[in-house]
Amino acid sequence: RAKDAGRGTWRLFDREMDRHLQERRSLQRDIKRALLSEQLFVEYQPFVALDTHKITGLESLVRWHHPERGIIAPDEFIEIAEQSGHIGTITAFVLAESLAVAAQLPANVSIAVNLSPLHLREAWLFDQLSGIIERSKIDPGRIEFEVTESAVLETEGRTLENLHRLRELGCRIAIDDFGTGYSSLATLRGFPFDRLKIDRSFIVDLERRENDAPIVKAIIELSRTLGLRVTAEGVETARHADILRAYQCHDGQGFLFSPPLPKRDVLEWFECDNTAHGMAPGQVGSAI
Ligand code: C2E
Ligand code: MG
Ligand code: MG
Ligand code: MG
Repeated sequence: RAKDAGRGTWRLFDREMDRHLQERRSLQRDIKRALLSEQLFVEYQPFVALDTHKITGLESLVRWHHPERGIIAPDEFIEIAEQSGHIGTITAFVLAESLAVAAQLPANVSIAVNLSPLHLREAWLFDQLSGIIERSKIDPGRIEFEVTESAVLETEGRTLENLHRLRELGCRIAIDDFGTGYSSLATLRGFPFDRLKIDRSFIVDLERRENDAPIVKAIIELSRTLGLRVTAEGVETARHADILRAYQCHDGQGFLFSPPLPKRDVLEWFECDNTAHGMAPGQVGSAI
């Protein structure tokens, strides 16, 4: 009986795997069409200075409006795009869109674009991205590239060379999802980052889990000692913001301030108050 049950489970598992594989294959096919027929779009989520509540920057987050499946999140298609060789094209699209938005915002608002570790290895990345930046006429000092720890620990290819060249151009480099990798301290020693983003997983339990608070505090102190700007991801409650402010974290990003929103909504904030672009937690967008 146990054997039968086992076999049944396997059959179910096989079918599950099969469905999963088929779905991947069909998304892989669709992604090329997505690029050609403009199904990708970008949403923007603000970074807010915790002491003044002003927007200091926006992060660009890509989405896919699939004709049959609706909106697909980046976690579901970035990896597929990487494997099918389309990630460079997607990044170029996101960067160009973001710089067009930046051109309509006050000059002290920066714009952050995520880079994939696979793309970052490629020798042609620098020419591709610097070409887009030059054509946009945006000050490279307003552009930030977010990379994860695993990307920087990567010794293959041109990763470090690309990061150094982007930085020489004047762009800033942020380390994303800090604390989730294997070798956080070694990563910080290996590259002169401008910003450190503390992973959401540390912030979520800030109020409840006693252990996370001293870790978050230590990461903030370390960042400040190293001269980095420090940003907390996943700030969802006023209490999170209070704790982070007390620890002297520079910026917060999260649903408390605003979810990622389409371009027109973001531009509206600055139309209302384009000198101060001030906002209080919960005042912008549909904050939770
Ligand atoms: P990330 O760079 O760490 O981006 C932050 C993610 O957290 C976003 O998810 C954002 O919507 C979500 N988030 C923000 N605030 C909160 C909050 O308060 N609570 C919770 N629960 N979540 C929050 P999203 O947009 O689904 O993106 C997921 C990941 O996909 C990103 O993580 C990034 O690694 C990747 N990604 C997004 N856009 C791009 C892109 O253009 N290129 C590349 N290579 N990767 C991208
Ligand atoms: Mg990011
Ligand atoms: Mg992140
Ligand atoms: Mg994250």
